[in-house]
Amino acid sequence: MSTDLIASSTTARVNLLGMNRAQLEAFFLELGEKKFRAQQVMKWIHHAGITDIGAMSNLGKALREKLLAVAEVRPPEIVSQYDSSDGTRKWAIRVDGGGLVEAVLIPDGSRATLCVSSQVGCSLDCSFCSTGKQGFQRDLSAAEIIGQVWLAIKSYDAFQSGKGRVVTNVVMMGMGEPLLNFDNVVAAMDIMLDDLGYGISKRRVTLSTSGVVPALDRLAELSEVSLAISLHASNDALRNELVPINRKYPIARLLDSARRYIDAQADTKRVVTVEYTLMAGVNDQPEHARELAALLRDFPCKINLIPFNPFPNSDYRRPSGNAVSRFWQVLVDAGYIVTVRTTRGDDIDAACGQLVGQVVDRTRRSERYRQAASIGEVASG
Ligand code: SAH
Ligand code: SF4
Repeated sequence: MSTDLIASSTTARVNLLGMNRAQLEAFFLELGEKKFRAQQVMKWIHHAGITDIGAMSNLGKALREKLLAVAEVRPPEIVSQYDSSDGTRKWAIRVDGGGLVEAVLIPDGSRATLCVSSQVGCSLDCSFCSTGKQGFQRDLSAAEIIGQVWLAIKSYDAFQSGKGRVVTNVVMMGMGEPLLNFDNVVAAMDIMLDDLGYGISKRRVTLSTSGVVPALDRLAELSEVSLAISLHASNDALRNELVPINRKYPIARLLDSARRYIDAQADTKRVVTVEYTLMAGVNDQPEHARELAALLRDFPCKINLIPFNPFPNSDYRRPSGNAVSRFWQVLVDAGYIVTVRTTRGDDIDAACGQLVGQVVDRTRRSERYRQAASIGEVASG
């Protein structure tokens, strides 16, 4: 933690919610305090759900007063919450500066996967993605990212309630490209994994990327979370059209980098989840499946097929069920583990769409959440 951060707190308080253990320890050392204070504060925030520094009784009065002058614990603000009859709960969240993001919790038996956003909008402009069409507004802070986990647990009144784990899995598959908001995403994921934070297994936190190769290489040195890559095409010519960042970091470089990521993990059984959004007549033909099977030969992966979800003014169509089955069969015959996302009814879309429709297309987003839940399953299953 820099002295700048403490100095600047005369104008804006430091938000302790988004600081990982190392950052919080450095913060307390700079304040002239013992670093074990970081552990106490993390337990208050992430285990007890307490945001009132004045209520952190084991800190002592003098320290609490000192902290109140420079720091705060401030989650982002829930604008609306929606409950589906299938148990899915969705929040529209307002972040500083007025942008809106969404987080969605999808319960499934003993598992509950939270889909978390990392940016307001996205700069990468994939041709099939409505978030990309919206353009980039800004990065979320680490507090706004981990705050989505905090808010989910709070909304079930489940901090220290003994109700069981509200969030068992996290997928970084909401709005934005997580590797373009590297430091904040890494700090937030640290807190997800830390026992003083949410104690989620590293296999149950999944980062999805469209392929920011240098950042993925850096991530390998810092993180142990599960990895999903958004491939969507079996050759560079096609991927250049669908995922423009491919022109900078083509498929071979992305696969190499993803393999390095997996190789850097102590746990040798891990694989990459390959996401492949199927678009009718674009990338869903049997020859694409054969090309994909050849491309991924010897690459340690599972494949998640996602029938495209259309949105207004989108250029693509969802393939027929038969086309999806044919594609799936080719990959299964080639020996891959392949899951397909099927669309479920979701009765909370409409209300949500009315709310954030100007920001994000509702149909498109709800599909992503269903897909995200499947990634959570795939990644940890
Ligand atoms: N930026 C990251 C993570 C967020 S996007 C990434 O691209 O991986 C997460 C997923 O949303 C992508 O894998 C992509 O498959 C999916 N997606 C985007 N638009 C979609 C659409 N219209 N239909 C289905 N999936 C879509
Ligand atoms: Fe950004 Fe991911 Fe959408 Fe591409 S698919 S525009 S990387 S959010």
